[in-house]
Amino acid sequence: MVNRNSKRLGQERSVIREIFEYANERKREIGAENVFDFSLGNPGVPAPPAVNAEIVRLTEEMPPLALHGYTSAPGAPDVREAVAAYIRTAFGVPMSADMVYMTCGAAASLAVTLRALCEEGDEIVAITPCFPEYRVFAEAAGGRFVEVPAGEGFHPDMAALKAAIGKRTKAVILNSPNNPTGVVYGAEELSALGALLHDAGARNGSPVFLIADEPYRELTYGAAVPYPMVHYANTVVCYSFSKSLSLAGERIGYIAVSPRCAGAADVFSAVCGAARALGYVCAPSLFQRVAASCLGMSGDVEEYRKNRDLLYSFLTQCGFSCVPPEGAFYLFMRSPEPDAVAFCERAKRHELLFVPSDGFGVKGYVRISYCVERAVIERSLPAFGALAREYGLIG
Ligand code: PLP
Repeated sequence: MVNRNSKRLGQERSVIREIFEYANERKREIGAENVFDFSLGNPGVPAPPAVNAEIVRLTEEMPPLALHGYTSAPGAPDVREAVAAYIRTAFGVPMSADMVYMTCGAAASLAVTLRALCEEGDEIVAITPCFPEYRVFAEAAGGRFVEVPAGEGFHPDMAALKAAIGKRTKAVILNSPNNPTGVVYGAEELSALGALLHDAGARNGSPVFLIADEPYRELTYGAAVPYPMVHYANTVVCYSFSKSLSLAGERIGYIAVSPRCAGAADVFSAVCGAARALGYVCAPSLFQRVAASCLGMSGDVEEYRKNRDLLYSFLTQCGFSCVPPEGAFYLFMRSPEPDAVAFCERAKRHELLFVPSDGFGVKGYVRISYCVERAVIERSLPAFGALAREYGLIG
């Protein structure tokens, strides 16, 4: 009666969303101040002041049709040019407006890009742990999703990637700063990966693309985030303003196809076609313009840094083992028992809500989103302490 795969996806729901819904229910039952919800990557820091100023200015000054009406399918021409100019200036890449497609956030950027690149049976490689929706988007595009475990310190394992990339590999998805580990990949790693993909493409006689998923680019604590297009020609950047500008609910981002990419014009045409087929044309008009005026900006990263430092130092003092995050706003913590789902259930009894790593493609860890108000973290510390005592990590 209905599409079986769509029905399954609709009924399964994402684990993260499931916990978020539970948190809301629990808040209604026992009061919001008694629930410590670290489930969702919903940015808690306000949007930069320039965002609000621009919304006010645009709503006051722009004629209604230009403000709220349809733009061209790939976005308003001046917005696409602003994005291209920003990429040229910030990263030294010869980006042009006709390689930029405005989208409804990174999710749409990824879904469209995968649909644009994938033929039935093509393989899409991702490094685990990774954002759980990659599999959904890749399989919806007809691809076969291939997971390659990260290596030391959750950095890419080049030998494992090399072994996993074969004749049917169409693309590798890379996400730095990383959700869920907070790790940032360096320039040398990107160069090494670029060389590997170049060789694989030469062997296959068709390019192996790098899909750079970059919603956390601006959210780092000192680490430089190299621009993937500088290191590898066949790159498509999937960007989002959800996290940098704290605009997650407004659904705005873009796809930028490297002009140095093999068959760049064809790749861009396929992006246009995929966006059309998926109904993702003409991203929200007002927020296209807001984003174009706030390129490269971010909310107050210092607030996230303070959250990170407070939580990281308390949890490690309690005997928990965490990956030191260099970017994004997630702590990836080793579960003190092998079953991270069971650990999350135990934590729930202390009203601590976070996400088991199983959905990210690895076992034995949990993801703690610290993009919450500081007061939530402060109030949660006794509960984390009690949890550590329960596991005998502290006396
Ligand atoms: N990619 C990663 C790594 C993410 O963490 C997220 C959201 O959390 C997305 C993509 C989707 O972002 P958006 O809200 O812009 O669709």
